[in-house]
Amino acid sequence: MKKDLIRKLVEAYGPSGVEEQIRTVIRAEVEPLADELRVDPLGSLVARKQGSGEGRRIALAAHMDEIGVMATYVDEKGFVRFTAIGGVSALTCVGTRVEFGDGTLGVIGLEKKRDDASRAPKLSQLYIDVGATSRDDCPVHIGDSAVFVRPFATQGSRLIAKAMDDRIGCAVLIETLRRLEQTPHDIYFIFSTQEETTLSGARTSAYTIDPDLAIAVDVTTTGDTPESHPMAVVLGNGPAIKVKDSGMIAHPEVRDMLVQRAKGADIPYQLEVLERGTTDAAAMQLVRAGVPTGVISIPCRYVHSPSEMVDEQDVENSVRLLLEVLQAA
Ligand SMILES: [Zn+2]
Repeated sequence: MKKDLIRKLVEAYGPSGVEEQIRTVIRAEVEPLADELRVDPLGSLVARKQGSGEGRRIALAAHMDEIGVMATYVDEKGFVRFTAIGGVSALTCVGTRVEFGDGTLGVIGLEKKRDDASRAPKLSQLYIDVGATSRDDCPVHIGDSAVFVRPFATQGSRLIAKAMDDRIGCAVLIETLRRLEQTPHDIYFIFSTQEETTLSGARTSAYTIDPDLAIAVDVTTTGDTPESHPMAVVLGNGPAIKVKDSGMIAHPEVRDMLVQRAKGADIPYQLEVLERGTTDAAAMQLVRAGVPTGVISIPCRYVHSPSEMVDEQDVENSVRLLLEVLQAA
């Protein structure tokens, strides 16, 4: 997969609820490849690839929104207080830079005077400094959203960026659509909105599609860093096929089908049980009378930090696995 594509996706701006900029980037990539393209009422971009007609209706989802922060209050000196959009930890915020939709840059600072400076800070003790000197000259307004600023980087086979969650899933979907040659299935590629907050985009798009089968492509955490929570997912050991997370149990037939396709094509894979967190799949499996749903997870270290790390081989193998699923009857 081209790293340029990944760079474009991860560096774009798109906190939950403000996905216009990232949607424009993705639209430019998928427009020449899809048979049909639409934007759903809640903002998800849906690209359809029509199959030969004998197969099933399949929905694939990767979310294009990213975590971020939203301004809640501007004080008289022009410092901005904020709340989290999705799971944001104060520990990863201090000293980082954020960017608003209009390009305004800010640095996240920590109150100097704290009762117990040895304890981890709370988000309420942080503020954004955008270089303003008063409330009046502050370019940030209540409700404005910002994302972490961090350029895409590579180190050996590792890819590092903000918003790997889940732009790397978007990259996998785009690359799969590009390489897909023939398929019996009618396939809908959903680039969903608001996954990090409410899973709303994928839920509503799946309702319209009414699929026979759904698969989310997202990241998962790993258990392979110093003193990490025991978890049998290792960066670089292949895509993780989800068994369970805190929002769903993957449909056993979908999980087994993914395992069989991986085995049949000699694609390395791992099984994932994620104890905290979920994906669009949890919402998609609950639309209408229920949809058999599974997840291909890309192992990722430092999820929800400004430097999320994935392995190039896991990304490539996720595309291969998805192609195996889509090209088979
Ligand atoms: Zn995600």
